[in-house]
Amino acid sequence: MISKYILDSISRGSLIRIMFEKGKRLKDQFGVQNVYDLTLGNPALEPPQEYFDALKELAEHRERGVHRYMVNVGFDEVRANIAAWLDQKELLPAATKENVVMTVGAGGALNVTLRAILDPGDEVLVLAPYFVEYLFYIAAHQGRAVIAETKPDFSLDLDEIDKKITKQTKAIIINSPNNPSGRIYYEDALKDFVRLLYDKQRKYHTKILLISDEPYRDLVFDNIKLPSVCAMYDNSLIIYSWSKSLSIPGDRIGYIAFNPQIQVPRMLDALSFCLRLLGFVNAPASMQYIVNKLLDVTVDIDYYRKKRDRIYRALSDAGYEIVKPEGTFYLFPKSPEKDSITFIEKALEKRVLLVPGQGFGCPRHFRIAYCTDDRTIDKALEVLVELI
Ligand code: PLP
Repeated sequence: MISKYILDSISRGSLIRIMFEKGKRLKDQFGVQNVYDLTLGNPALEPPQEYFDALKELAEHRERGVHRYMVNVGFDEVRANIAAWLDQKELLPAATKENVVMTVGAGGALNVTLRAILDPGDEVLVLAPYFVEYLFYIAAHQGRAVIAETKPDFSLDLDEIDKKITKQTKAIIINSPNNPSGRIYYEDALKDFVRLLYDKQRKYHTKILLISDEPYRDLVFDNIKLPSVCAMYDNSLIIYSWSKSLSIPGDRIGYIAFNPQIQVPRMLDALSFCLRLLGFVNAPASMQYIVNKLLDVTVDIDYYRKKRDRIYRALSDAGYEIVKPEGTFYLFPKSPEKDSITFIEKALEKRVLLVPGQGFGCPRHFRIAYCTDDRTIDKALEVLVELI
């Protein structure tokens, strides 16, 4: 009954699933509090107070009619406010509500975008390490993922990107700050990158859509100002989600904001249609209402910065090779064993759960998600230090 494509996809994801299953068995055997789980990008941090205040206010405004069907792309007022905010922050100059589409998180936004642009066989360039779901999303919409490596410090490798762009390249996804490495792409590198994209468009007489997946945009440390690549390149769009910045991944809200200069006719119509086609219809009405009140609110970023500093210091002192993350709530150290699975299994024996780098396209590494409590982190650090 299950389609070959889905069966194949399920088994390709099996490595992480096997780890997950093993972790679950350990939790059943020893109790959740005795298993130290650093696998999930599911923040333990509660949403900020302003979020609960906005929820309460929504509950008290029954006459507003916010819970009905609406135009697929979302409430006009919310889209207009987001566009003005993006313009003011110079993330997307001159954006208007016609450039903004509310979505069911970044995952929904990526699917809607890919569905809108891909014909069978079109290539989408993805930079390793990457968010593993990209590959499934691209395949689901009949595209072909092409992987470009980054440099050993996970910064952009323009020679590699140059080699991998072809006449069939329809889009490229970049993700800064990056899950899993925490790496940010800086302005000079982005300028060169964008120049390369313009050169390729001219060379092949094609259009290449730059998809900037930015769910960690607000989780940046050390006062680094994140440059906006979409402000540098016309055929571009931002994908954003409040999953991480407000700690509400279960509430599913995000947006697509495309460049007002985009050279793609009927972009808004296509995205709107794909919201219907994929069954999202529109982003949750209540959540649109709430995030509209919280455009300048985030969780306490210092909460994550302190954890990053502590883990980074402890592991580097112990001898792990790690590129210091500049954002997100992940670290992506090099595995002491050639194959990170062997290493992860050793950690598993000591009841510490980690994700092997294979899933992110970097088998030499493993991912630590530190969006969890300090007790879990302390125990995991003890084990990791012991293992090296
Ligand atoms: N993109 C990246 C890089 C992510 O890490 C995630 C979630 O972890 C997503 C997209 C999906 O986020 P959302 O919860 O908004 O669907």
